[in-house]
Amino acid sequence: MQRSEKPSWLKIKLRTTETYAGVKKIVELNKLHTICSSGKCPNINDCWSRGTATFMIAGEVCTRSCKFCATQTGKPLPLNEEEPMTIARSVNLMRLKHCVITSVDRDDLKDKGAEHWSKTIKTIKKENPNAIVEVLTPDFDGRNELLQIVFEAKPDVFSHNMETIRRLTPLIRSRAKYDLSLDVLKQASDAGLLTKTGIMVGLGETEDEVVELMRDVRQVGVRFFTIGQYLQPTKQNIAVAEYVKPEVFERYKQTGLALGFDNIESAPLVRSSYMAESNKYFNKTAFE
Ligand code: SF4
Repeated sequence: MQRSEKPSWLKIKLRTTETYAGVKKIVELNKLHTICSSGKCPNINDCWSRGTATFMIAGEVCTRSCKFCATQTGKPLPLNEEEPMTIARSVNLMRLKHCVITSVDRDDLKDKGAEHWSKTIKTIKKENPNAIVEVLTPDFDGRNELLQIVFEAKPDVFSHNMETIRRLTPLIRSRAKYDLSLDVLKQASDAGLLTKTGIMVGLGETEDEVVELMRDVRQVGVRFFTIGQYLQPTKQNIAVAEYVKPEVFERYKQTGLALGFDNIESAPLVRSSYMAESNKYFNKTAFE
């Protein structure tokens, strides 16, 4: 479907629950940043009403300016040393069994935020020994010595988003490169971590190009994959090229399963962290 009015399948739930109010309170009281609100995620009512949120660490100002992203770009503030403990306590307060942490890019820091990532993962695990910790990280410019710092903190899921197909990457992402992101995922798989990636569609890609990306990421060992519709978060962001129909998402899902992904979420409103806690891989293992 070409871009025009939003189609019916993108209508979102506006209703919220008491749990939503509880999450909002924890976020506000602890001055936490979430990608749910800074990324203007369409699922915020749904996720927060189910008592889940994705925390964003290392501030709310990003050193990159990708065309799809609503996060503010500029010179970030110094890191908050108390943040790892604040996040760990919030995971505890929210009784999260599966928490998802992401961050802005910190190209201004010598280690690009790797040590802060490590401290955050370790503190969450220490304070919440039964929680699954999923991290959605920047590329750290692909530097192995920085990625190892994050890997050694042993997140249960290491996720780094490809965001879009090879041809569109230079148009959509400001500094990240397709092959570099593939390499980051390969390094994580080689380190023995469970890896995950996600993309947005509706940016002008073809189905063949999406399948090519799926093959590329499977080849570097990626186990979990998400595909959702790109929605223009602000007027300054790149426009939607197409509203992809639900049946196309279903085809991607079937293709992904045939390619051997352990879990694949493919639907218009899927985001990389959406329903992360329902990942079938964990629901059939001892983590349950
Ligand atoms: S999909 Fe992820 S980013 Fe969006 S509201 Fe849910 S937890 Fe937050």
